[in-house]
Amino acid sequence: MKSVLRRAEAVDDFATAHSAPVQMSMDCPDCGAGIGLSLPSLLAARPVWCSGCGARFDVNLDNSADVLRKVSDGLERLRTVRDGANAAARG
Ligand SMILES: [Zn+2]
Repeated sequence: MKSVLRRAEAVDDFATAHSAPVQMSMDCPDCGAGIGLSLPSLLAARPVWCSGCGARFDVNLDNSADVLRKVSDGLERLRTVRDGANAAARG
């Protein structure tokens, strides 16, 4: 649990440093509408509402750990790509 939180903070720092808002989304199980999730609100365990049908979802960090890990992996791939681009630019 603690390591997941620390990792999530690292992701947030990385996103902030590179002006990349950490946005995720999930499909509403009731109506299928896309529901935007932000990493800060996930970490704060704030409830989110479906804009399609108004259903409320309470964020559970334990359930979100897998999502957070996927986002983190995606950001690491992004950083690898960016570093590669920087190295190429330097020649
Ligand atoms: Zn819905």
